[in-house]
Amino acid sequence: MRRTPELRVSDLRQYHYCPRVVYYQYVMPVDKKTTYKMEKGKAAQEELEELEKRRKLKAYGLENGRRRFNWWLHSQSLGLSGRPDMIIETEDALYPVDFKYTRGRPQKNHMFQLAGYALILEESEGRPVEKGFIYLIPQKDAVVSEITREKKQECLQILDQIRDMVENEKFPDPPSTRAKCVDCEYQNYCRDVW
Ligand code: SF4
Repeated sequence: MRRTPELRVSDLRQYHYCPRVVYYQYVMPVDKKTTYKMEKGKAAQEELEELEKRRKLKAYGLENGRRRFNWWLHSQSLGLSGRPDMIIETEDALYPVDFKYTRGRPQKNHMFQLAGYALILEESEGRPVEKGFIYLIPQKDAVVSEITREKKQECLQILDQIRDMVENEKFPDPPSTRAKCVDCEYQNYCRDVW
């Protein structure tokens, strides 16, 4: 059965960061402000993709593997699609990888994004996906994420929550910490927060 509305894997990350970000995208599309951090992240990401094609897999703790870029993932039964920054394919496993331009450690919302890719890959490729990586661009370091059954289950629950929010046009509360709003591209629309 086709799940609607069709969602993107990045919605999992954004919903966990702040549900309003996803609400604005689906229920009340608005012009958003591109932040300096986003521009910088995109440029660094393009550069990294070129470098990755030549680099060894040591940063990921892997001996061998093939890097795959621009692999669009889609699952009709999950109603979910997305494109990881990279997928490493070895003889017996697949690892989704996301590049992040951040100085901090990866957050839980980044891990949800990897778990979303894992759900689609497991369905389309018919093999378990139990690990992924967040590559921290400034530190040149890859952080492994265990993609457990519980995490995948949590992702499925979040997808249900997003669909409920969108279908019933439920405007969510802001996050408990206003620090998240400082770099947010939607801050012009959250007048109750400022
Ligand atoms: S400004 Fe704050 S409350 Fe509004 S969408 Fe951004 S993070 Fe959420």
